[in-house]
Amino acid sequence: MNFSPRWTLALLAASLVTAASAQDKVLNLYSARHYQTDEVMYDTFTRTTGIKINRVDADDAGIVARLRTEGAASPADVVMLVDAARLAAADALGLFQPIKSATLDRAIPSNLRAAATPEGVTWTGFSTRARVVVYDPARVKAQDVATYEQLADPKLKGLLCTRSGSHPYNLSLFSTVVDRLGDQRGEAWLKGLVDNMARAPKGGDTDQIRAVASGECGVALTNTYYMARLVGSDKAEDRAVTDKVRVVFPNQATSGTHVNIAGAAVARHAKNRENAIAFMEFLASTYAQGYFANGNNEYAAVRGVKIDNPALKAMGGDSFKVENIPLAAVAKNQVKVQQMLDRVGYK
Ligand code: FE
Repeated sequence: MNFSPRWTLALLAASLVTAASAQDKVLNLYSARHYQTDEVMYDTFTRTTGIKINRVDADDAGIVARLRTEGAASPADVVMLVDAARLAAADALGLFQPIKSATLDRAIPSNLRAAATPEGVTWTGFSTRARVVVYDPARVKAQDVATYEQLADPKLKGLLCTRSGSHPYNLSLFSTVVDRLGDQRGEAWLKGLVDNMARAPKGGDTDQIRAVASGECGVALTNTYYMARLVGSDKAEDRAVTDKVRVVFPNQATSGTHVNIAGAAVARHAKNRENAIAFMEFLASTYAQGYFANGNNEYAAVRGVKIDNPALKAMGGDSFKVENIPLAAVAKNQVKVQQMLDRVGYK
């Protein structure tokens, strides 16, 4: 892992302590993440700031439901969710509040955050993951799957596998393709994907990778961390799966590969607002980025921070060309794209 020098951490700790001193030394964190490496990072935050973290773990939908039920009485200070679409949906429900932070403005590219308003910014991405193509080199040529657009080419008829089109990971990707192609060509592209399916959409991303390895599918879509998990697995049968498939970072010669985020926001009714902002700024430190991103085999969100992860390195590293569409705009497209999926019969 790529740790910052100790003095950076000391300076950070000093500023965080100042920010938190006027309040209770506590932070209530609602998190859809549950990785052991995150725990080490949280302990460091507590040790350097004196702010104790109380964590509520649930999946993304569970956290959103809980925040809605609790309303103004919610003890949540920071909310962590996975996928820009989910963050944007929670934001649209009024579950977050905008914050102003020069540290976050400086550290995190604006396309990985909610749109800025005069009040500030609500959600912020703290790690990124790419949505890539995996294929069976025995059945599919690399040059036939170099772009997302090519996945709808009749050449790939009967070969494509994906999880549900309505899953946030696919909705976000499809939204950017529709954004690029326009509504008419975008919907035709989605129809082309349906026409190329080897089977009805089912399972998660890992299931698609396994189905390519087993020969049921010739090409599939997955987030990079699912592939990295198999690449870095200590089980020989997982590594055998990855030996049978190849990874393509699509659209390298054109618009760039689609990336999404895991991110966080200060809860609408946060009682420990200063602590919450201090925690958000801590997540953007070089130190925390290593844990936050690496805990799930993700890439750093902060400019210039490199994650030293052997599995990701084996998949080609993090220097690929990234699609340059603001994730906030992507999230806005999703209702329209879901309607398109319904029309073309993409389950
Ligand atoms: Fe996932």
